[in-house]
Amino acid sequence: MTSRHCLVIEDDQDIRDLLCMILTGMGFVVHAETTGTAGLRAAGTLDLALITLDLGLPDLSGLDAARGLRTLSKAPILMITAWAEPGDEIDGMAAGADAYLAKPFRPHMLRELVQRLCPPEHHDAPPSRAEDTATGSPA
Ligand code: CA
Repeated sequence: MTSRHCLVIEDDQDIRDLLCMILTGMGFVVHAETTGTAGLRAAGTLDLALITLDLGLPDLSGLDAARGLRTLSKAPILMITAWAEPGDEIDGMAAGADAYLAKPFRPHMLRELVQRLCPPEHHDAPPSRAEDTATGSPA
């Protein structure tokens, strides 16, 4: 089984370390970047299974970063943000995010979202992205 690579774009070191630890524990090879520019550069060169994107980055707007990532990679984008305004989630989805997680989050919430975005059993099957985002959370 080949390694699955994941890109973490997050400028907060504590959150970045937590994301890296959880995702590494889930079997991903994790690449971490601290700015949107570096994240976009990495997304253009890596074959990624997943991208986590902080919306509050020092250089780019997270939404601009998401739009850029969408043009560079087919990997699901999990947006992670401290902003709690309801409109942010809609803006994030419109910019190309596949899922959205508000800080502070619990590790199990991250794991569940990641498992839904990239199920470990499916090798090359494309995620049924349209249906998932259209119906939203069943709970
Ligand atoms: Ca941040």
